[in-house]
Amino acid sequence: MSELHPDVQEVLLSEDDIKEIVSRVGAEISRDYAGKNPLIVCVLRGAFVFTADLMRAITIPCAVDFMAVSSYGDGVVSSGVVRIVKDLDTHIEGRHVIIAEDILDSGLTLSYLINMLKARKPASIEIAAFTVKDTEGQGPAVKPRYVGTHVPDAFVVGYGLDLAERYRNLPYVGVLKPEAYANK
Ligand code: 5GP
Repeated sequence: MSELHPDVQEVLLSEDDIKEIVSRVGAEISRDYAGKNPLIVCVLRGAFVFTADLMRAITIPCAVDFMAVSSYGDGVVSSGVVRIVKDLDTHIEGRHVIIAEDILDSGLTLSYLINMLKARKPASIEIAAFTVKDTEGQGPAVKPRYVGTHVPDAFVVGYGLDLAERYRNLPYVGVLKPEAYANK
C-alpha cells in the first residue's frame, strides 16, 4: 500500500480494489469479444491508466487507439462544452469498438462521442467505464455495457483522474481535502 498523499482526505478505491475491478472487466470483455478483435478507444487523458491496465487484463487479441476531448476546464465544474482535440487514427468501419472511460458523470461527453463515432459505421460500439458517479436524478446520458464500480457524487482524483493536471499518478482513487482546491 502506497503512502497517502497529504492532499487526500479519503481513499475510495485502493490499489487492490482497482486490480480486482479491472481484472473482472477484462475477463468480461475477453469472454464477450472472443474472435472479434475489438478496438479499445482510450479517451485521453483521464482514461489512459485504466486503458493500460484493462488491455493487460484482456486475454484475447485487441487493438488500442486514442482520442482526446475536452469537456471540463481546469476546474471541477462541467463546462458542458465537448471539443475533439485529437481524433482516432484507426478506421472503425466494421470494427467492434469499446470506449474505455475513466469516470462517467453526466455522460454528455460520451453521448457526443458515440454519436460521432456511430456515423463511421462500426460493427458495434460499447462503453467500459471504470467508474460511474452516483448522482441524483436521471443518471448518465449513456449506458455503459461494462461498469467497473460506482463512486459517490464527489470530485475524485487518482488513477488517471486529475484536478488541474495533478494527482493523475496516484495509484488509488480518492477525495481531496477541501484545502487542496484552494491551492490548485
Ligand atoms: P461527463 O461528460 O460524464 O459529465 O464527464 C466525464 C468527464 O468529466 C470524465 O471523463 C472526466 O474527465 C471528468 N470528470 C467527471 N467527474 C470527475 C471527477 O469526479 N473527477 C475528475 N478528476 N474528473 C471528472
